[in-house]
Amino acid sequence: MTDSYRHKGMRKKLVEALRVRGISDEAVLAAIGAVPRHFFLDKAFEEHAYDDKPFPIGNKQTISQPFTVAYQTALLDVHPGDRVLEIGTGSGYQAAILAALGAKVFTVERQEALYLRTKELLRTLKFKTIQCFFRDGMLGLPEYAPFNQIIVTAGAIDVPEALLEQLAPGGILVIPVGHTEQQMMRIRRTERGSFKTEQLDTFRFVPFLGGVEHK
Ligand code: SAH
Repeated sequence: MTDSYRHKGMRKKLVEALRVRGISDEAVLAAIGAVPRHFFLDKAFEEHAYDDKPFPIGNKQTISQPFTVAYQTALLDVHPGDRVLEIGTGSGYQAAILAALGAKVFTVERQEALYLRTKELLRTLKFKTIQCFFRDGMLGLPEYAPFNQIIVTAGAIDVPEALLEQLAPGGILVIPVGHTEQQMMRIRRTERGSFKTEQLDTFRFVPFLGGVEHK
């Protein structure tokens, strides 16, 4: 896999487009500028890898639109060394962005075929701070909790209790909630253990489903 000057040029343009759309977090923009998104897409979409669009990644799933990735990542406020749980590994691109921000990433996928493929890709790309798990993300990852941040990248009907429980004090959960459309929610666990919720913009995600799917 090669990252050419042309790819880098397209990535620069994407970063500028995200800035225009309202993403202002410089660390997040730098991460988008650093991670070759075309590595996470089928060869057939390579020419469009830096368009601000979602694409199919097989198994009826999609790689999120760069704007959505940047938006959710900015809400998480990740700092180097943070322990971040991602629910919905998919292509691995969001996990790679979190790793580029210096996080220790734990990512969970419920579809075995996607889990296996992406785990191998991340190994090949030498993302050593990302650990992949084949699990039902509704349950979180209790044996690795607590997390400083938790991000859900599929549309949930409600907020799973397990994810709230696995947040460290001061931790942040970002989760899109709703049936056909989802409202982005940011939930902060206070140092005293109560929860503060903000309701933000509307998005469309693939569904957050319970249980695992074997290949
Ligand atoms: N973050 C991904 C987005 C993938 S789409 C990326 O950057 O490409 C959302 C993913 O969530 C899909 O792969 C889907 O299979 C997965 N998913 C849905 N419900 C889940 C659950 N309960 N546990 C784990 N993963 C889940």
